[in-house]
Amino acid sequence: MKILIEKGTVVTLGKENKIIKDGAVYIEGNAIKEVGTTTEISAKCKMQNAKCKIIDAKGKVVMPGLINTHHHLYSTLARGMAIPGEPAKNFVEILERLWWPLDKILNKEDIYYSALIPLIECVRNGTTTIIDHHESQAYQLGSLDELEKAAKEIGIRSCLCLGISDRYNKGKEGLEESERFLSSLVTRHSSLVSGMVGLHASFTVNDDTLEKAIELAKKYDVGIHVHCAEDEADEEDSIKKYGKRVVERFRDKGVLGAKSILVHGVHLDEEEMDILKETATNLVHNPESNMNNAVGWADVLKMLKKGVLVGLGTDGMSSDMLSQMRCAYLIARNEKKDPRVAFMEAPKMLLENNPRIVGQVTPFGKLGEISAGFLADIILIDYLPPTPLNENNFLGHLIFGLVDAIVDTTIVNGKVLMENKKLVGIDEEKITVKSRELAQKLWSRF
Ligand SMILES: [Zn+2]
Repeated sequence: MKILIEKGTVVTLGKENKIIKDGAVYIEGNAIKEVGTTTEISAKCKMQNAKCKIIDAKGKVVMPGLINTHHHLYSTLARGMAIPGEPAKNFVEILERLWWPLDKILNKEDIYYSALIPLIECVRNGTTTIIDHHESQAYQLGSLDELEKAAKEIGIRSCLCLGISDRYNKGKEGLEESERFLSSLVTRHSSLVSGMVGLHASFTVNDDTLEKAIELAKKYDVGIHVHCAEDEADEEDSIKKYGKRVVERFRDKGVLGAKSILVHGVHLDEEEMDILKETATNLVHNPESNMNNAVGWADVLKMLKKGVLVGLGTDGMSSDMLSQMRCAYLIARNEKKDPRVAFMEAPKMLLENNPRIVGQVTPFGKLGEISAGFLADIILIDYLPPTPLNENNFLGHLIFGLVDAIVDTTIVNGKVLMENKKLVGIDEEKITVKSRELAQKLWSRF
C-alpha cells in the first residue's frame, strides 16, 4: 500500500520539529518514506510513477499518531453501571466494590467486546498505540488472545499484559497466561502486537508471585508493567509487610529498569523518585484517573526535573490523549499554584516521552515523528488556525485549540483505519448493539 498525504500542515515533531505548510507525506508499506512540501513530494511520486492512494489534507494538521502508555480496555462495560450500596469512600473501596467484582465476572465475549469499543475510540481520537493492562479473574487463560483479536480487528498497535495478582489462584493462572502469550509472540515478530509481564500492584502480590513474575520477564526479555503508589495504602502495606517502601521493594526484587513501567507514583517520596532515575524506570502519569479516584497528584514536574522518563496514560478513563495532556497541564498548575509551570512538560510527556517509552518496552520500531524511516502512524486533525501557527507556538495551538479539534483520518502501520471521520471496514453500530446486550447481562450478574 502506498499513500500520499498532501496539502496539509505537517507537524513533524521529533528533533527537527518542523512545521511544513502545504506539506506532504509519502508512505510505503508500514513506514514513512518521504516528507516535504506538496510540490516536492507529489512531483517525486509522479516521477516514480508510484500508484498510490492520495489523501487531501487541506485544512488539516498532519501529525504523528498519539500513544497511550497505560490503558485498561477491560473497564468498558462498567460505563453507566449502578454500583449497589453507599458510594465507595476511598481507593481501596473503589477496587473492592467496583473493579474487583467486575473483573471477576467478565467472560470471554465480554473481554473481546470490552476491548473493541475503546479501540474504536482510540481510532476516533487519534490514539494509534496503546500499552494495555488487563484483568479478568474468572477468564484468565486465553484472555490476552481476545484483546489481541480485537486490536487486530480495529488495527491499533498494542502492547498487552495481564495484571497478575494473588487475589485469584495465588497468581498461578496469571503467570500461566502471561507465559502462554509471551511464548506465542516469540516466533511471530509482529510489528502490531507485543507483550509485557503485568502485575496488579505491590499490595496484591506476595514475594513468591513477584519473584516468579520477574523470572518470566527475564526469560522473555520484557519489562514489568505494574501500578505503584497509586494510593497511600500501597505504601503502608509495603512498609508493614516488608519494612520498605514500594519502589525499594521493587528495586530489591529486580522489577525496575528501562523496560519496566510503574503506573501512577502519586505517593512516591524523593528517594523513590531518585531510584526511578537511577534505574531508568519509566513512570506513567494518569491525572484524570487520579482525580476521579481522589488519590492525589503525582509530582511529575519534580520527577521530570530529576530526569525520570514520565509518560502519560488514561488508566482506562478514556482513549483521548490530547484531553489527558491538557488535564496534566491544568492539574500541575493548580497543584503548584504557579501559572508558569507545565506548559512544556505536559506536551513533552505525551509527544516525546510516550514514544520513547514504547521504544524501550516494545520491539515495534520508531514512533512519534513524521520523518523518513519512522512507522507510518499518522493522524489528520481538522484545524484552521485562527492565529499564526509555527514551530515556536505549536504547543499553544495544541493545548488551546487542537485539543478540542476533530480527528478526521487515522493511519496505523500504513493502513487507513478512519478517513473523513468514517471508520474503514468496521461496523461500529453492530459492535455497540452487541456490547449493550453484553453489558446488560453483565450488570445483572454484578
Ligand atoms: Zn491502571
